[in-house]
This record gives sequence, structure tokens and C-alpha cells, in this order.
Amino acid sequence: MKPFRYVRPGSLEEATAVLAGNAGDACVIAGGQSLLLGMKDRRERPSVLVSLQDVPETRGICYADDGTLTLGAATTYWTLHTHDLPKGAHAILPEIAGDIADVPVRRMGTVGGALCQAEPAFDFPLAAVLGDAELELASSRGTRRLAAADFLHGPRKTDLAPDEVLARIHFPASAPTVRSGFVKHRLRRFDSAIASAGCLIDVDAAGRVVAANVACGAVCPVPTRLTAVEEALVGRGVEEDLAAMARSRASDGLPDELANPMIMAGYKRDVLPVLVYRVVAAATNGRD
Ligand SMILES: Cc1cc2nc3c(=O)[nH]c(=O)nc-3n(C[C@H](O)[C@H](O)[C@H](O)COP(=O)(O)OP(=O)(O)OC[C@H]3O[C@@H](n4cnc5c(N)ncnc54)[C@H](O)[C@@H]3O)c2cc1C
Repeated sequence: MKPFRYVRPGSLEEATAVLAGNAGDACVIAGGQSLLLGMKDRRERPSVLVSLQDVPETRGICYADDGTLTLGAATTYWTLHTHDLPKGAHAILPEIAGDIADVPVRRMGTVGGALCQAEPAFDFPLAAVLGDAELELASSRGTRRLAAADFLHGPRKTDLAPDEVLARIHFPASAPTVRSGFVKHRLRRFDSAIASAGCLIDVDAAGRVVAANVACGAVCPVPTRLTAVEEALVGRGVEEDLAAMARSRASDGLPDELANPMIMAGYKRDVLPVLVYRVVAAATNGRD
């Protein structure tokens, strides 16, 4: 591993100043679960590591008056999993966090780290795209916000500039009537996903689907919203076989095997309809 300097700024302003002052040769370290592996095999060679350990702006979980949920980017999976979030779309987040890898990874790994690392098999990028999250990026030049879907460009490629810190992740307010489903297909309990799917479905008092977000992870280079499924579900009644309907549209609009650069693209495409069936069934079965 190349020698490096480790700095522990006490504020976001200090952290961004260190990044700006080291012109592309410094990078943030959050949980270190991906970065340190990259440094060990010399794919990553930063001279300065900027820790978020003492940066309060990147920590914590809170609600605004309008119902927006804000997660500090350095929130660990463990913290998120053990946090009580109200019913609705946000309840899927502790569920996803509690099913990532093993306890040591969950204790160290952070939600922002997963977004910045942008591995297709990671779960939190899927959660962010599914939940229409907005990311807050800070640098000494100022702050900007953009949708998670626009931040993620491909495997290990994001919109993050070398002098920026992902500070916070904002999830829009959710109705308590939203129910969710999440499933990942993997070989062993602690493995990353070969393919995953998630959904957020809201049903009104008359039993009609009024909103549906459905997305897949690890199937394409970035988490992908399944808009054909979403469109097929909205307006339907829960007495219909919504899960089967979703399954039949799951692959619509996805790149075919030859156009998708992912390893095992054909297999992922084959398995996805089953995952979509399961998540939609989980979110809609048992509704009155
Ligand atoms: C054995 C193992 C199994 C795993 N299995 C899974 C799994 O099944 N599902 C899953 O989702 N994840 C899995 N992970 C990944 C883990 O969940 C971490 O989220 C991930 O490694 C990155 O988070 P981190 O906090 O450790 O980031 P780090 O490793 O510290 O950083 C990763 C990259 O992001 C940058 N970065 C981090 N935070 C910020 C920030 N706030 N602003 C700007 N840049 C930032 C760093 O500079 C670095 O380039 C696994 C990891 C391991 C080691």
C-alpha cells in the first residue's frame, strides 16, 4: 500500500478545504470497506485520506417538518438498521441495511460510501434510486443537489468531483400507506446480489394502486427503474394478480444480453421477473 497521510477534520468546511488543497490527490474515507481493499491492491493511490469520523454534518438521521428524511452520508448500516423509521416508503431502508453482508461490514460500511463506490451489486444505490433520493454534495465552491439516478454513472463512476464530499441523502416524504418489498438473489447469506429488486407501492382506500416505484439492482451497470412495471401497476386494483402482471413486464425496456456489459447479463435478465413478482406480492398481498 502506498504511504498516505490521515487527517480527521472536525467540520464539513475543514474536510472540503483539505480536499480542495490537495488537488485530486486526497480522498474521503468513510467506513473504508471498499477503499482500503482498493488501496491494498493499488487500484487507489491517494496521498491523503480525509476521515468523516468527526464531521457532524455527515452523520445522523432526522426528519424535516415536511416529512423529508435526511441521512448523513457517513451513517453506517448498523445505525440505520437499528433506527426506528415510521411506516411508509422509508421503512425499506433499515430492512435493506440489516441484510447487507455481515455484522463487521454493517458496523463500518456507510450509506454514502456505497453510493460513491457505485458498485452495481451494492444495495443502497438501489434504495436511493427506488426512493427518488436527492444527494447533497459539498465542496469549498458551494453545495449542489442532484438526483441519485443522475449521480450514478456506472460501475465505480459517479458525478462526484475530486473536491466534493457527499454530505447528506434526502428521501422525499412518504405516505404511511406505502408498502415495500425488497429481495436479492445471491449464492450465500453474506454475498452481494447477483440481481435484486425493490418496490414501493401505495394503494388508496378503494384498493387502487396510486403510486408504484419498482427498480432492479445488479442487473445493469446502474440501478434501473422498471418503468413498464410501474405504468402497468398504477390504476389497477389489489384484487387483480398484480405480482403476475409485474412479472410479465419486468424485462421490458431493459437492454438485451448483448447490449448489457454486465457479467451473466442473460441470467440476470432471466431471474429478474421472479424477483419482481416476489417484491410486488410482498407489497400488495394482504391489503384490504
Ligand atoms: C466483505 C464485504 C461484503 C460486502 N457486501 C455488500 C453487500 O452485500 N451489499 C452492499 O451493498 N455492500 C456490500 N459491501 C460494501 C459495503 O457495504 C460498503 O458500503 C462499501 O464498501 C462502501 O462504504 P464505506 O463506507 O466503507 O466507503 P469507503 O470504503 O470508505 O469509500 C468508498 C469510496 O467512496 C468514497 N467516499 C465514501 N464516502 C464518501 C463521501 N461521503 N463523500 C465522498 N466520497 C466518499 C471514498 O473516497 C471511496 O472512493 C461489502 C463490503 C465488504 C468488505
